[in-house]
This record gives sequence, C-alpha cells and structure tokens, in this order.
Amino acid sequence: MMDVAELAPRANAAVRGGLRAGLDLLLPPRCPACRAIVDRQGRFCLACWSGLTFITDPRCARCGAPFDIDRGANAACGACLEVPPRYAAARAALAYDGPAKTVLLGFKHGDRQHLAGVMAPQLVRAAGEWLGDGVVLVPVPLHRWRLWKRGFNQAALLARAVADRSAATLAVDALVRVRPTRSSRGMGRGARAGNVRGAFRVARPAAIRGRDVIVVDDVLTTGATVEACARMLLRAGAVRVRVLTWARVVRDLS
Ligand SMILES: [Zn+2]
Repeated sequence: MMDVAELAPRANAAVRGGLRAGLDLLLPPRCPACRAIVDRQGRFCLACWSGLTFITDPRCARCGAPFDIDRGANAACGACLEVPPRYAAARAALAYDGPAKTVLLGFKHGDRQHLAGVMAPQLVRAAGEWLGDGVVLVPVPLHRWRLWKRGFNQAALLARAVADRSAATLAVDALVRVRPTRSSRGMGRGARAGNVRGAFRVARPAAIRGRDVIVVDDVLTTGATVEACARMLLRAGAVRVRVLTWARVVRDLS
C-alpha cells in the first residue's frame, strides 16, 4: 500500500503532471532551471548549465564532500574522521546552489515531477559502479502527512527513475517514516540526531536483509536523515548502506 502511495502522485497532482507532460510534447522544450527555450527536452540553457557545480573527485571517500586538493583515494574529511558515518559512502551529482536549487524547488513544490527524468541520468552518473545487480534502492520516505500534502515522494520518484536506468532494484516501501521531522539545517549535531531519532522504521526487512542497499534522496544537507536511515537498515540486516543524492550542500568549495 505504501508502495503505491509513495510513488503515485495524488489524483489531482497526477492530472496536472499528465497535462504538463502532454503540453511539453507540444510546446518548445525549456531549460529545467530558468525555463528559457532550448533545443532539446531535458537540456539546460548554456547559462544555467554553466551555473551547475558537478561534484567530482577529489572528494571525501565517506561523505563525498569535495576536496580542494587530492588527498588520496581513501581519504576522509575531518568531520568523517571525527565521527565516522554509519553509511559506507555518500555521493551526490551536484552542489546544492544556483540552478540546481531552482530545479529541486520546481521538482518538489512546483508540480514538475517530470524533472525526475532530467535528474536521473545525473544520479546514475554520480553512482558510477554502484548500481549493479542485486543492489537495492531505498528512497528516504516521507511521513504520511507530508506525503498527503505534497501528493508524491520526490525521493521515491528519483529512485524509480534510477532503477529504470540501471540493474538495481527498487524497494520503495522498505523503510517508512513513523514520525514527522523538521529540517535539521542550522541545528547542532545533538539536536540533529534527536530530531530524527526513532523517525524511521524498516517495514519490510525481507527486502533489505543481506542486501547491498543504496538510500536515495533529493538533497543531502546535514546528513542526519540518511544517517538515521542507514542505522535502521543496518540494524535490520543490510550488509552495506550507501547514499545517493542528486545534490548536496557544499560549505566550502575553495
Ligand atoms: Zn566526509
């Protein structure tokens, strides 16, 4: 049941999305960020494309934060050395700023769910070798109130789009959010952990026990949410948990 609710937009959202998808076939293709007319569907205009910050190596082997200098293949950042994350590694396609922010806000709040098709290839590229056979994709779940309000779970749409383009399988209902949480941006470490404590539960342990799991989300901010997800998935028997997000907050790129 969760599976259908998480994936299928509510009826009115589905109709709006369907209408938009229909219109997109008739109207000229537009830049996913600024909506300027472009030559092909799903392509950014030159200005927005130049404004995207793709995250590449060198970066922290654990949390994926970009490094200014190459510190070696397995080097971790100061934060990860101090408190190693429970997940094995996190990767993000883009820094969460400029046009990437615009795209994500349109995707989440602007009824532009078709953007999952634009974002998914970038997620697949960021995942590199991760998306092999037997890998299970688990989207970060929304609390049912938030799901009802928004009509869809953006992380589930992204995970499905990645599954469609890879050998990985989707377990959309494996994890549920049993308690609503606030955005943990601006909170200290203790408050962040408290905010998500007990918020997630593995609803379908059989889907993840003994499996190599990738938690999928739209954006990684403090990492507290995916940490809480990883903790529950590992406790329920996942052999490894990695994290894949479309964007991540980058504090210092210099
Ligand atoms: Zn790190």
